[in-house]
Amino acid sequence: MAIIRSIPGLVGLNVQRKKPANDNNLREAVIVKDLILAGRRAERSVIGLKDVTIGAKEIILIGGPCAVESSLQMRRSAETVKKAGGKILRGGVFKPRTSPYSFQGLGLEGLNYLVQAAKDHGLLCVTEVIDAQSLDQVVNRVDIIQIGARNMQNFELLKMVGKINKPIILKRGLSATIEEWLLAAEYVLAAGNPQVILCERGIRTYEPSTRNTLDLSAVGVAKELSHLPVIVDPSHAAGRRDLISSLSKAAIAAGADGLLIETHPNPAEAASDGPQSLTPEQFIQLAGELGVVASSVQRIFTAGRPEDTIESLRAQIDSIDQIILEKLADRMQIVRKLGDQKRLDQVKVASRQKEIVQRLVNLANELQLPAELVKRIYPLIFEFGIQSQIKSHLAQEKELELSTYYPTSGK
Ligand code: PEP
Ligand code: MN
Repeated sequence: MAIIRSIPGLVGLNVQRKKPANDNNLREAVIVKDLILAGRRAERSVIGLKDVTIGAKEIILIGGPCAVESSLQMRRSAETVKKAGGKILRGGVFKPRTSPYSFQGLGLEGLNYLVQAAKDHGLLCVTEVIDAQSLDQVVNRVDIIQIGARNMQNFELLKMVGKINKPIILKRGLSATIEEWLLAAEYVLAAGNPQVILCERGIRTYEPSTRNTLDLSAVGVAKELSHLPVIVDPSHAAGRRDLISSLSKAAIAAGADGLLIETHPNPAEAASDGPQSLTPEQFIQLAGELGVVASSVQRIFTAGRPEDTIESLRAQIDSIDQIILEKLADRMQIVRKLGDQKRLDQVKVASRQKEIVQRLVNLANELQLPAELVKRIYPLIFEFGIQSQIKSHLAQEKELELSTYYPTSGK
């Protein structure tokens, strides 16, 4: 039988360590009391929805405006999300606003715009529900239901979405601890719906520079304590668009399974959350930069293919040229360091050069590049490399000479 003992040292969490029944498994599992269904398991949950899986290797991008405002706005937003490689279109139609005088959402009319735009662009869609009535109105129309931060502990609502057969994005409450957030997820699971996606969206702190403070440690902690997928919403955390790109990348590096990012065709005119909404161009550019971050943490994100206009093709060539040159500079630096470890008469090693060219010719054949390209470019690269090694040697010798003739007087 599993032995459960509490750990007073783990600050702030009502956690216990569960000694695994199987002693071969040396790692003790940390569990939060009462996370009977949401608590950590041997296998992480993967939520599958049509052709989209959340919680597997692929990073899922969700995008769209804060609030649905018009049919045109949603068509443009869907186009942006699709171009970026996003899979899910968002848009609030029932908006729980801090002020009763702020735009409260278009309701059912907005829902039609969201659903239609998603369908026309082959995207899934998600919208927030705030009560039984709104849930009833959207449940058969959208693919995913969102419970917003302000309703994270609306337990009756949690039980209601626990009875439906659709994935739920559960935002972390503005001042909720991770334990409270996971226990809110437990409510949904306990009511019968196992498809919960946790969403970290920033918590309230004393720091006024950002709307909230994005708690990236929560991604790791939630994944340690629970088997549920965790996504990150940098938009509501930062409250300002200039931070969204770096926070999104940091979220992926921290282990997030997806991103939920606000974008608007014209943020300056947005009915809500304009300052944190990315323009379509910014959203597409950011998506184009996520792939490398994802692969650096053994995940995948495939951005949409840019349209083949002359401008976009030239922009792609420019950015590839920049990468080629930066990599050449890196190579040169390593070559210099290597040279510093060799004697001057050992700088040129013909056999090594031959070996490199042979390997790259084989690679070029595989990549369907002309072998001649390698044979012409590499001798130049070797030549400049050797020159820089020689220069570096001569500079060091000169320095040595000078220090011999003019030794620094030890005072
Ligand atoms: C939203 O996603 O539109 C929203 C209101 O977010 P949150 O509940 O995190 O404030
Ligand atoms: Mn918003």
